[in-house]
Order: sequence, then C-alpha cells, then structure tokens
Amino acid sequence: MSASVDLGSLKPLIPVFKKWNKEKQIWQWGLLPEDFYRVQAGYACGKCLEPFAHWLPACPLCGESTFPEYAELPPEWRKQGES
Ligand SMILES: [Zn+2]
Repeated sequence: MSASVDLGSLKPLIPVFKKWNKEKQIWQWGLLPEDFYRVQAGYACGKCLEPFAHWLPACPLCGESTFPEYAELPPEWRKQGES
C-alpha cells in the first residue's frame, strides 16, 4: 500500500498479464501494485479495468462490484487507510 498512489487520476490501468478463469468465465488481470491498489480502493474496475474519478460501489460500464470489504467501509475510514 503506497501513499503516493493517485486515486481518481483516471490513468489507464496496465495489466501485466491476463489469465482465463474457467470456473468464473472471466479474465483475471495481473496488475501493477499501484493499479491493484486503485481496484481495491474502489477507484477502478477489476473486471474491465475502467478507472473511476472517484470511489464507486460498482463499475458504471460492466456493473462489477468493487471490493466489498472496502465498499462496506465508511469513506472517512478509507481516507485514513490512504494516508
Ligand atoms: Zn467494469
């Protein structure tokens, strides 16, 4: 977890590899640590890799939920985790 990650920057997420998950029938992405952090924090989609300008509970493009354990946290708590 790096404090230098610019959440909401809308910088494209760059997958370093991708793997087909046969059980879930989805692509799974290998992401750089800062990109994965943005997905974890709810600022990017882990499915279609769409970056968000602000925290969202689900992706507006594909409807994929952001990480539930983060979504349940109130915004103030998430902010503290970023510092
Ligand atoms: Zn998406």
